[in-house]
Amino acid sequence: MLISSPHQMIVNMKKWIPLFFCCCLALSACQNNAEPGPATAAKAAPTATEDTGQTTEAQPADQGDRPDYVLVIHGGAGSIRRGVLSPEREKSIRQALQAALDAGEAVLKAGGSSIDAVQAAIIPLENSLHFNAGKGAVFTHDGTNEMDASIMDGATMDAGAVGGVTILKNPIVAARAVMEKSPHVLLTRKGAETFATENGVETVDPSYFFVQDRWETLQSILDEENKSGSRYTAPANSKYGTVGAVALDRQGNLAAGTSTGGMTNKRWGRIGDSPIIGAGTYASNATCALSCTGHGEYYIRYAVAHDVSALMEYKELSLSEAADLVINEKLVKVGGAGGIIGVDAQGNVAMPFNTSGMYRGYLKSTGEKVIEMYKEEE
Ligand code: ASP
Repeated sequence: MLISSPHQMIVNMKKWIPLFFCCCLALSACQNNAEPGPATAAKAAPTATEDTGQTTEAQPADQGDRPDYVLVIHGGAGSIRRGVLSPEREKSIRQALQAALDAGEAVLKAGGSSIDAVQAAIIPLENSLHFNAGKGAVFTHDGTNEMDASIMDGATMDAGAVGGVTILKNPIVAARAVMEKSPHVLLTRKGAETFATENGVETVDPSYFFVQDRWETLQSILDEENKSGSRYTAPANSKYGTVGAVALDRQGNLAAGTSTGGMTNKRWGRIGDSPIIGAGTYASNATCALSCTGHGEYYIRYAVAHDVSALMEYKELSLSEAADLVINEKLVKVGGAGGIIGVDAQGNVAMPFNTSGMYRGYLKSTGEKVIEMYKEEE
């Protein structure tokens, strides 16, 4: 471009002014869409709604706001009230939840898959005495421990599950083996144990699962049954200590897993919702990943996990709207106690429950980290 005179120079500069303003606007738009720093993350921090126990957060403006990774866990819903647990026990449960979050985050941070993170987070919960899964599994009517677990990969829609297993140290590992090494989705009892053993899943003597206070809970229910002459007493006002995890990884893939000892005093080979894909566990990259805890018969009848996903897919509800509708309206109407945890494809988290408490927590790559137990958290 040749500049012939000062006047010509001014004319040319004027031509560039609109372009300069366009560049400034584009630059500021980019800054607004950038991964939120700690200050932005703090602003978007979730709020627990007192009456529903639901945790929601602002929806991101677009895909650019998706955190690199998200992990959500639960350790069961039920009659969990402030002041009932000793401070030492409460501290120890919070530490166990923290250990599960740490184990899952180590996988996600290193770029591992959501399915690996889910399994990594569930194993320490299964190994803890505090939760009704693995080591801490409740007793059946016959004094045995029968465990159920499932896992689902939202990228491939593959799933695996085991039901009524008694010698597998970590039922979630067996569920993963069913998913990856068998042509089936759900294996039960001796067959599941044979398959898992043949595929290298660690076994233990059933006495490994003996925990004194779980045993005493069964004895007091059996005493009540004897006194009342009733044939079957479902534990009243229970704590459903099932464990679960859902994750979104750096690749944008979702996964979910759930593991449980079921319900104290269960009999006749009863299997709950936890190993039923679509009831206790569900994951689809198209919507979200979900893990449930609560009175399993209701979760099976109302296909709870799939119902939440379907409300998102077909009615275009957000994760928190869908989860809240199912847990706090549909289930409440019919008396189905429990909760659910979920993460959607954008990294939004929901953790609603209709009981007095639910052991729960989540973390995001943005630095947010939450561990909660009661409905009314400070
Ligand atoms: N949902 C489990 C079951 O019914 C129990 C629980 O969540 O603790 O087997």
